[in-house]
Amino acid sequence: MRRETEKSLLCNGCGRKLIRENRIYREDFVDLRKKWGYFSRKDTQNHRLILCEDCYDRLTGLLVLPPQIEEETELLSIG
Ligand SMILES: [Zn+2]
Repeated sequence: MRRETEKSLLCNGCGRKLIRENRIYREDFVDLRKKWGYFSRKDTQNHRLILCEDCYDRLTGLLVLPPQIEEETELLSIG
């Protein structure tokens, strides 16, 4: 009998279930967590937002300023 150890994640933007095989997500996504503080209208609330890459692109396209982007050089050590 197969048992899920963690609830599967749904994209908040499109409602699609993120693909996961052997407990590893087969696609990358945004996992935004925010603990709202005193100077907000959501004080004491913890919010979490999951966005698939398509929804991330769609939503960031609506922003006045685009996200800050830095290229990361991936270093693979061999041996
Ligand atoms: Zn989505």
